This record gives sequence, C-alpha cells and structure tokens, in this order.
Amino acid sequence: MEIPLGMSSLLWYDEPELIPHLPALDQAGVRHIELRRLSPHVNPASPSSVNQLKRALLDTGIALHSVHLPTEVTLAMFGADDVSRQRGVAAAKSVAETATTLGANVLVAHAGGPIRDGDNREKLIEASVEGLSDLCAFCGQLGLPVAIENTLPTTPRVGDTVPELVQLVQQFKGDHVGYCLDTSHANLSGNVTDAVSLVADRLLTLHVSDNDGHTDQHALPFDGTIDWPAFMQGLKRARYTGVFMMEVRGGPHPEQTIRNAASRMKKLLALID
Ligand SMILES: [Zn+2]
Repeated sequence: MEIPLGMSSLLWYDEPELIPHLPALDQAGVRHIELRRLSPHVNPASPSSVNQLKRALLDTGIALHSVHLPTEVTLAMFGADDVSRQRGVAAAKSVAETATTLGANVLVAHAGGPIRDGDNREKLIEASVEGLSDLCAFCGQLGLPVAIENTLPTTPRVGDTVPELVQLVQQFKGDHVGYCLDTSHANLSGNVTDAVSLVADRLLTLHVSDNDGHTDQHALPFDGTIDWPAFMQGLKRARYTGVFMMEVRGGPHPEQTIRNAASRMKKLLALID
C-alpha cells in the first residue's frame, strides 16, 4: 500500500525562518509538507515572499500538501461575536488564496472553537457550520478541498469528539469537504481505530502523532498509547492512500526527529504489508 510520509512545519514552529530547514526533509526522503503557520515563515501579503517559498519548495522537490489555518484565524472564525467571526472567515479565505497560489492540495480547518462556561454548545455548532459553509463555498470556487479536523478535547471545543465532527461535516455537500483526522486528539476523546471507521468515507488528510492519552504531546508514533497496528489496519480498510502527515514537535534536534519519523513510517507500513 502506497502512503507517502509528510511532515508538518510544526517541527519549526518557533523558528523565524522555514526555507533553510527544507533540505532536512529532502535528506530524509520526505516529499510532502504541511504549513502549520504562515507568518513568520511566509508573508501572505508579499507576493515576493510567497514566490520565494514556492521556489524553495520546487528547488527541494517538496510538495506543499496542506496549509493549516493559523491559530489566530481559527480563534477569530469561531469567536464570540458576529463581527469577529466575519473577520475570521475573511482571513481564512485569504489564507485559502495563498494556499492555492502555493499549490496546496488541501486546506485544514478546525471544526470549531473553545466552549466556555455558560455557552450553548448547539448554538456554537450552528455558528461553526455557518462560518465553515462560507469558507467551504469559497474554497470550492478555488478548487481547494477543505479538511475539517477533530479538535483538542483537553478543554471543551466544538468538534472535540469524532462523532460530533461527523455530525458537523455531514451537513456539507460536495466532494471537496471532508475530514482531517488528528490521531492524538482522537486518542484523548476516544478510540483512534473507531475514529478512522467513522471518517473513512471522506478522509482527505491526517494529522498523525501519539500521546499518553491525557495530554497532547505531538510525539512520534509508538511513543504513546495509540494502538498503531489497529490504526493502520483501519487505514487499510478505509483504502486511504493520501499523505501520512505527521504533526510532531521538532524538539531540540528537528533533523533527528525527521529521521526518526521516516524510520517509524517504515515500521507502520510493515504492519499492513
Ligand atoms: Zn492537528
């Protein structure tokens, strides 16, 4: 089964520059990347900055698989009032345009924002669907698929369980809207293998990492409590052949983390050979 490895730029989240690090992916044989943040790694308002990143990706032979909406855009999109939400959706549309210019295959959006004491969960879900509908319609015109991700459940958020994500995504028609399954978030809210079967019909991309089942550590597969043999069998049943996007922290030696990710990938693929 052919599932190529990808790495999220979360590896260099706190680094001021991304381009100098791209050769480390190439050296480990990794050909796909997700942009976890735009600024400071690329300035979407500057065509020359966008072109510079596009050129660097071409030169290193790394394909931009996905762009993750930046945290500040997500927070605004699912903010407390209508004005913030409209601003957030407008910012998300502009990220989608940059993603298209850079040649991304998919835009990753969270299912919703934090739920505070006294908030009405159903109302927030409705607001999420409204904002995401607007964004998804815009991305449909751009030809950019949108993958909606199950959120981190350590504090309540819209879409922090996979069944709730499914309930939300089912409201969108069309092939260009589907799921991004985050294995760590799923491990904190339930069973990761059950989660794969729930999203199998519209699984567009993955955020793969491991944790201890209590907090979100963005660790490499096999460093936490996820049942990887069962997960890989689930992917096989789902006939998933998209990118295996690892969303792991770089730690003090990101280059070593990438090499470790590549060797864990071999071990994972051997489970479904
Ligand atoms: Zn994620």
